[in-house]
Amino acid sequence: MPTQTITQRLDSGDLLLMDGGTGSELQRRGVDVLQGATAQRLGAWSGPANIDAPDVVAEVHRDYLEARADIIISNSFWTNRHRLAPIGLGNNWERYARAAARIAVETRNDTNLEAFVAGGIAAPCVEVALPRAGQNPSSDVESLGATSVRKMFSEVASVLADEGADFILPEYIGHIEDAVAAVEGASEAGLPVLLGMRHVTTNGNLQYGESFEELGAALSGLGVAGVMLMCSQPEEVSGSLPNLRNAFDGPIGAYSQIGYRPIAPLGGEESKNPLPPGENSPVRLAEFASDWLAMGAQIVGGCCATTPAHIKAMSKLLD
Ligand SMILES: [Zn+2]
Repeated sequence: MPTQTITQRLDSGDLLLMDGGTGSELQRRGVDVLQGATAQRLGAWSGPANIDAPDVVAEVHRDYLEARADIIISNSFWTNRHRLAPIGLGNNWERYARAAARIAVETRNDTNLEAFVAGGIAAPCVEVALPRAGQNPSSDVESLGATSVRKMFSEVASVLADEGADFILPEYIGHIEDAVAAVEGASEAGLPVLLGMRHVTTNGNLQYGESFEELGAALSGLGVAGVMLMCSQPEEVSGSLPNLRNAFDGPIGAYSQIGYRPIAPLGGEESKNPLPPGENSPVRLAEFASDWLAMGAQIVGGCCATTPAHIKAMSKLLD
């Protein structure tokens, strides 16, 4: 494990590089991440790959570490019973989560002992089918109840911590009430908790119109070690990051997506390439990341559809 904790690194002002997309990268490398997917819903997503294609998961982590990522996120995005149940694997969530953390920790140990393994846990989004459809206002707390959401984050975090994750990252959170429940649950594992908020807007609000001021107030006293904007377009991150900076005193960061098209390939003409066309080049994303650092970000990286080449391009900013 690293000689300093993530909190110590951030407190000392260090800038850290996050990895890029994992699920999209697994798909690009031929792994089936669309079990149970429909035209409206991603299905169970990339969790089963931890058992079905562990070598490819490790290869993706290794490639990000070799692109000089300081942080890799375990492939445990939706290794929870809510997302796995529709493909008949709900009771296997722990097996997938445990394997995710183990693969990430082993790869880190083989590649760069000073890198961090973030135990990633996404909001299960049982009602919000598609990221970009995103207009269904039902939160996880509304659909599952705050107790169930806290319990899910707590039990997955406990497994990831047990396998050696360095901190817990509740991510892909859209609603403030979900963020609070996620942080409370994840904190029970006893590790630092950073938070990733999804789909922020160019006009500087959270996905459903809530403000960053409201988010900052809701997180006050919960001991969050950092807040990041994630799985938003680069322009959306740039539009929202200044408001996050004003609303939250602790470390901030951003890891942007670049327009992944995971659903269109299902039987569509574009089945051979789930990644978007070339305008979101590594160089262009690195230019955005440079802006985010100037806005106060201490962690920058990529989400859906970004590749090791994008992270490598960003690494030059941190020299
Ligand atoms: Zn994403």
